[in-house]
Amino acid sequence: MNNVIEAKNGVKIPQLGFGVYKIKKGEQFERAIREAIRVGYRHFDTAKIYGNEEALGLEIQKSGIPREQFFITSKVWTTDLGYNATKKAFEHTCKKLKVEYLDMYLIHFASPHYVEAWKAMEELYSEGKIKVLGVANFEIQHLEHLMAHSRIPPMINQIETHPEFPQNELHDYLVQHRISHEAWGPLGQGNKALLERKELAEIARHHKKSAAQVILRWHLQRGIIVIPKSSNPKRIKENSEIFDFELTAEEMEKVNRLNTGKRYSVNPTGYIVNPFYVKLMKLFIR
Ligand code: NAD
Repeated sequence: MNNVIEAKNGVKIPQLGFGVYKIKKGEQFERAIREAIRVGYRHFDTAKIYGNEEALGLEIQKSGIPREQFFITSKVWTTDLGYNATKKAFEHTCKKLKVEYLDMYLIHFASPHYVEAWKAMEELYSEGKIKVLGVANFEIQHLEHLMAHSRIPPMINQIETHPEFPQNELHDYLVQHRISHEAWGPLGQGNKALLERKELAEIARHHKKSAAQVILRWHLQRGIIVIPKSSNPKRIKENSEIFDFELTAEEMEKVNRLNTGKRYSVNPTGYIVNPFYVKLMKLFIR
């Protein structure tokens, strides 16, 4: 579990992390994080909009493991984009997580005012409060625009990626610009249509692994950072046991062929980045 991907600035990002989106609050959340830490996960991915930064911070603190051994990511939500708003959102996030700095801070979507938000993040980075600066759900046109209007180019892009939606074109662009590729929804959000593909079952049988482990291994061998989510202790452990086998070139190709172009979640050029909806969201999200 010690595999790392080096960001452009040399900061080491654990290649396997733990996503906490939609894990039920309360006892289930506490149990899942405790189990993940026990099994060895140190990289955690949250966001303001998940509403669990505080609970995650508490579990990390309760573990008694020094803060520096964790790699913590959070994200600035669409309604907090802008120079002042983003600085304020960052302070709130740190307070909730009970940390002085974030290992990674991402713009959650390319919604209005992301360039001004980035300026605030560049300053926080220069002050040592953010170690890796990045974005999520950015398409090539957003990355081009951001790079043309910023001092520090993004170091990572967190995007929906799984065998049915491998993001080949965007992946090549990221590699070319030395922007790390992080997969959200790495297991296709647990969709059976993907996890029960016979091609995956065959490969899994051969390695005495599960289909989920084969998918996660496929990501690792593409050089991608993964943050699978689970609240099931057995799966939390299973998802971490992906460093003791290797897919052959032929097996990688078999998984590549599962590409159907199907997203399981929101299209990042859709309503979340539409100024009208952002204004509407501001009425409900503080
Ligand atoms: P995922 O691909 O990690 O799928 C999670 C689901 O897969 C679980 O709920 C469970 O049903 C199933 N699963 C997990 N382990 C399994 C196993 N071993 N065997 C069988 N099924 C298994 O999807 P996700 O939670 O959407 O994505 C992971 C993380 O990415 C999130 O928790 C969050 O931190 C992040 N994320 C970011 C964005 C963004 O916009 N930046 C969007 C969605 C998620």
